[in-house]
Amino acid sequence: MKPIEEIALEEMKPIEEITKEDLRNTKLIVFDVDGVLVPRGTKIKQVGNTTTFETKEIAKEQTEQMRQLKERGYLLNINSGRALDMLQNMFGKVLDYTSLTYENGSATWFNGEIIQHVNSHKYLGGLKLKLLNNNSIRNHLNFKGFEPKVFIITVHCEDEIRAIPGIVQEHNENYVKNLGKELYCLWNGEAYDIGVKGIQTKAVGLRSLLNHLGLKRENSLAIGDNYNDEPLLAEAGIAVTADKSRVNGHFYVPVLGGRLPAAVMMDCILARCI
Ligand SMILES: [Mg+2]
Repeated sequence: MKPIEEIALEEMKPIEEITKEDLRNTKLIVFDVDGVLVPRGTKIKQVGNTTTFETKEIAKEQTEQMRQLKERGYLLNINSGRALDMLQNMFGKVLDYTSLTYENGSATWFNGEIIQHVNSHKYLGGLKLKLLNNNSIRNHLNFKGFEPKVFIITVHCEDEIRAIPGIVQEHNENYVKNLGKELYCLWNGEAYDIGVKGIQTKAVGLRSLLNHLGLKRENSLAIGDNYNDEPLLAEAGIAVTADKSRVNGHFYVPVLGGRLPAAVMMDCILARCI
């Protein structure tokens, strides 16, 4: 298949057109979470030292679709920017069918075992405290809260807060660049995701998992909808975009319509394996 960065908008095919032949090498199916397996949006609120947030749960229909894919012999993986604890709560019903790659490729939970792919401590250490203790962020009307995470930093905001990329840039210049790395600070419309360029990406997570499973790139199919899914989709054998205005794919699932993109895609794959 063509590299996704070379695919023009009009070349992307609707997922309904995926064939048995396209899927002949596919052994591992990788899902992004928000906007793909569950609806977009995180409800989070931080007041003083108390953070509350809502956990979304996978719906019955998707639980059943994943069970059927597993039964057909597919390996399943959820690859998300979210933290492990959160993912285990969201996907408690499908933990027998799927592994969980979390915090933008930093580690994978696989049958109760944790495989760590990345150590970000020396690059990100100190930065979270700097952000946490910054009053112009904490008192900003747009500030919602820090999502509990171990390897990356995620700050939820109503809208952008310019001080955040500013502080990240300063940390970048003063510390991280001296260590030969650089940080990213991605605004995704509801939060800033802050991590280390090149090592904390969903693609690194996928590559490490494929190694662990003894599989190759062409054995993977991934679906995602956002900017942080771009490396994941570029790494996968078959890329399915759930938002072609944000990220390219060989196939696309329309954003509009009542059903979740993962549900539409799983139906198409299940229909091809009969
Ligand atoms: Mg998403």
